[in-house]
This record gives sequence, C-alpha cells and structure tokens, in this order.
Amino acid sequence: MSENIKLNVFAHQHSKLLNERAYSSVELVEATLHNLKDHDLNAYITVTNSLALKQAELADERIKSGTAGPLTGIPIAVKDLLSTVGNITTAGSKILEDYRPLFDCTVVERLQDAGAVIIAKTNLDEFAMGSSNEHSAFGPVKNPWNHQKVPGGSSGGSAVAVANRDVPISLGTDTGGSIRQPAAFCGVTGLKPTYGRVSRYGVIAFGSSLEQVGPFGRDATDIANVMQIIAGVDVRDSTTAKISVPDYQEDFGKGLAGLRVGVPAQFFQDGLDKDVRLAVENVIELFEHEGAIIDRSLQLPTSPASLPVYYIIAPSEASANLARYDGVKYGFSFLEGGSVDEEMSLTRSMGFGQEVKRRIMLGTYALSSGYYDAYYLKAQKVRTLIRQEFAKAFETHDLLLTPTTPTVAFGLGEKIDDPYNMYLNDLYTLPVNISGNPAISMPCGFSDELPIGLQLIAKPFDEKTLLRATYAYQSLTDWHMKKPHD
Ligand code: GLN
Repeated sequence: MSENIKLNVFAHQHSKLLNERAYSSVELVEATLHNLKDHDLNAYITVTNSLALKQAELADERIKSGTAGPLTGIPIAVKDLLSTVGNITTAGSKILEDYRPLFDCTVVERLQDAGAVIIAKTNLDEFAMGSSNEHSAFGPVKNPWNHQKVPGGSSGGSAVAVANRDVPISLGTDTGGSIRQPAAFCGVTGLKPTYGRVSRYGVIAFGSSLEQVGPFGRDATDIANVMQIIAGVDVRDSTTAKISVPDYQEDFGKGLAGLRVGVPAQFFQDGLDKDVRLAVENVIELFEHEGAIIDRSLQLPTSPASLPVYYIIAPSEASANLARYDGVKYGFSFLEGGSVDEEMSLTRSMGFGQEVKRRIMLGTYALSSGYYDAYYLKAQKVRTLIRQEFAKAFETHDLLLTPTTPTVAFGLGEKIDDPYNMYLNDLYTLPVNISGNPAISMPCGFSDELPIGLQLIAKPFDEKTLLRATYAYQSLTDWHMKKPHD
C-alpha cells in the first residue's frame, strides 16, 4: 500500500494525485477498504470489496490512457436505496434483505461510466423514512462527532461516510430533507437537486413526487463534479427535465456581491436553538459584508404548512409504492401454508418496521374513499399554494438563506417514541421538497462539539448559483475543513 495516501483529502485532490501517479486507484481503494475495517459507526450495510477493486483496475487503465475525468478512480459510497447489480440492495429493510437488483440505477451507472469506484452501500432509515437513522433494520448509525448522538436521516450512513473521512463523496436521497439534515448533523455539505434534475430510475421509491438523488461532499468543487455527471435527462425517467446541464463551476470566483438573498421570517421562529440562530446570523452578516443584498422582510406564511402537507403526501405515495412488497415478487416472504391474504399480511407484518407500517397506515387512510378529499386533495391544494409562494419569492431573490435544522444532532433514543417531535426536525427542509426547488446544506458553526448547518435555496434548475455561493462561503470560512476526532 502506498505511503502517500491520505484519506482526508477532497476528491479533486485525489484526482490530481492519481493523474500525477502519486498512487493508483487500486492503492487508494485498498487503503479505503482497509480503513473501513476499524469502523464502529455502523454506516455501511454492504462493503463491495471485490467489485470495487475490479472497478479500480479499470479506472487505472483509464488514467494511464489519459482519458480520466475528475471522478475516475475515486472511491464513493452510495445509499442502499440505489439499485446496484452484483450487490444486495436492502433499502434498510428486512423485507429486501436478500434482494439483488438486475440493473444499476441511472446515477450509479453514470458514476461508474465516469470511472468512479463504488466501495459501499450505506445504512439508512428503512425505505428512507426517518430523520435519525434509527429506523434501519440493520441497526442505528452513530454520529462521528459524538457517538451518543444520531447522524440524522434518512441518508445517515452516507453523511457519516464523508464526515468520518472514509470517502470524499457519497450519494443520498432527499424526500423531505434526508440529504440536508444529516449533512447538517454531521458537518458536511449536501445538495438536494431540483425535482426533475436527476434521474430516479432504479432508486427504490418512497415519495415519488418529492425525492431526488444528490451528493454529499466536503466542498463545492466535489459537489459540482458529481452533479455534472448525475444531472440531466434520462429516457428511463419521464420526470427528468429536458433542460441542459450548465457548467456548475462556471461562476466560482464571482463571489457573493450582488446576490439578492431573502431571509424568510418563518424559518427563525420559536423552536430554533439559540446557537443555531447565532451561527446563521453570523453567516448573514458575512454575506452582507461581501456585498450580498439581504432582505429580511421576506414572508413565506404558508411554508410552515409544509409539515402537515408532507405527512399526508409522502405517506400516501409510500403506501402506493410499498404495495409491491407482498412476499411474492421481491425478497423476504413469510410462508406458513395459509391463504394468499394471510401470507401477504404476515410477510408485511414481519418484513416492515414500525415507522414504515405507520406511514403505510397514514397513507392508506388519507387515500381512502371518504377521506381522500379531506386529506389528500386538500394537501395537494396547499402544496400548490406553497409552490406559488416560493415562485413569487424567487421573482425578486436569487437565494433564500435559512438554518437547515432547528437544532443540532439529538441523542440516540431521544425521539424514537415521539414521532411528531421527530417530524418537527424537518421543518426547514420539507418546504423545499414540497416546492421542488434545489437546496444545499453546509457547515457554518458548532454548538459545543456538534456541527450546525446553513441552508441555501435557489430557483428551480439554478444549482449553479447555490454552488457559486457555497464556493464563496467556503473560500471565506473553514467550517467545512473541521473534522471529528481532531
Ligand atoms: N425525515 C423525513 C421523513 O421521515 C424525510 C425523509 C427523506 O427525505 N427521505 O420522511
């Protein structure tokens, strides 16, 4: 193994060193896999050893032939909700514990075509339902900054993989905050793309009208490099937009001057932790100092309704999407020689965890005849109002600036028996899934030893401005350089 390998560097730095032949991708992947062995955070469901080494060999060929791109040879971890050929894909559920997909999802295919090396499938809340990663059939994940705290969810494993410096980049999915909230809790950067920007083909479905795949990384450049590869139309996902993908790094260096930044009052109300508020206030000051035009008069009065709206729409979509897990077509089945109905019912009772069952019941109720108009239809109408409110705000603003979460990471076990309290965690992230806009979370301070997340929200398909502002902020501060166990 090469002595030169430092795992604590950005993907773009690895890329440079790989191209200078300081080490090979095989050496880098070996070092990465070796390091995972002493890992006790439970961030991974599967480590893809031999497949990863094969991919690394191919990457080395490409580097030798001079056709490498920025992600060629780079080890990456992906949420175990993303279908991968040759590896089990569990969705964090017992019901899929042996499921081997016959195809790769589009985002994994695109990353592999770009030469990236998938080294692991990361732990998550079952079917991406949760905010703490405690709802995994494979056990909870621990926060690397404090092992008694949750890493956030549902993409907790992917956030920890980057925060713990196991890999420079990972992928998660965000239906209501599942990239941004764990990014905030773990002190890394995470981007939820605009709805329709990234293909969902091969991503195990939860709330289809809300979710997107997106990257975790430690700086704007690495996030931009991943987006450059995964974004864009996919004929296998009809919800992807036929809008061209810009050069995400083109505006790096333009700074913050002239950006019209709205600070919506609804994201700074009761329940916001004082350290989080203070850290975000400091960011606002810095933005202003750098020439951004701050507007504190912005009101988004309907946005707090995103919480009830989400908890009608997401469970409704989940109850339909999860109907396919009946023990006949996929994975786990519980057979006792009963009737078909009895066996399906047993399979679902034994195969799904508590939170998933709660969501299926909520969704089935909201969609049932007699309640549909009162709940589902009403939620869709309020969703339209929220979308309109966001659209209007972006007529006069380039970005919105908010905390990512009301508090920093909470304790393992602290909210597990109080679902409503758990759901409140997503208060600032959910509106963005309801509206479909893109948003990013990046570290902006600490409360004791725990990281605080800043959220920036942009116009639909304007990830470029999000990344410009992230690059500028990270050039002026070093929160994104802090690491656990320093
Ligand atoms: N925490 C939210 C939920 O439990 C969001 C999850 C997600 O984004 N996948 O549904």
